[in-house]
Amino acid sequence: MRRSRDEIAKMRRAGRVVAEMHDKTRAAARPGVTTAELDRVARDVLDRRGARSNFLGYHGFPAVICTSPNDMIVHGIPGPYRLADGDIISIDCGAIIEGWHADAAYTMPIGDVDPEAVKLIEVTEESLRAAIAQMVDGNRLSDIGHAVQSVAEAAGYSVVREYVGHAIGLAMHEEPQVPNYGPPGRGPKLRPGMVFAVEPMVNMGRPGTRTLEDGWSVVTADGTLSAHAEHTIAITDHGPEVLTVP
Ligand code: MG
Ligand code: MG
Repeated sequence: MRRSRDEIAKMRRAGRVVAEMHDKTRAAARPGVTTAELDRVARDVLDRRGARSNFLGYHGFPAVICTSPNDMIVHGIPGPYRLADGDIISIDCGAIIEGWHADAAYTMPIGDVDPEAVKLIEVTEESLRAAIAQMVDGNRLSDIGHAVQSVAEAAGYSVVREYVGHAIGLAMHEEPQVPNYGPPGRGPKLRPGMVFAVEPMVNMGRPGTRTLEDGWSVVTADGTLSAHAEHTIAITDHGPEVLTVP
């Protein structure tokens, strides 16, 4: 699906709200703060900006953000969990403006964190940057995931297979999916007006996952740390444009 300039402008506005959710939750996240409090901070941003949540009520999801600490990969439900010194936490945020969606996630260290965990976060962010660099007119969809996998595996890490990025627009999850792995040069040609949420999930150990009893929280099967980074990105005539920025 290719979007018009006007449609991308609306997604940019939703993206700006998501970026503010990132800023405010990042500023609030410190040892002793609960993930439910971070959800409240994010709700305030949505309310203030007149945006709706695309997470709240999604298949019954009870919050406006996902909070996934340490070995949790994605989809953690905000609640009584208190951030502790040495944790890493992934925070995934989304917003809707005039029907148009944006979706982005980041992972941050809490307090004094093991350098190995900081490196995992940095490599995950680098894999997202490498993926975004592939989002130019004429490349193929699988070039995106190939870039993620190359960066993550060169650092000795692995990429999750069961959860993937996605096209985004009038719904949060549109077709096609955007895997974080695979050979380059496959799939549809990337064209200006296409918009994707690209979201590497990088594990320090093996790629396998497990879902907890709450039916949402996805953790690494081997208990190693995992990091997540995501942006909503439009392909334009002038290259990729990240929409989830201030
Ligand atoms: Mg997301
Ligand atoms: Mg997403």
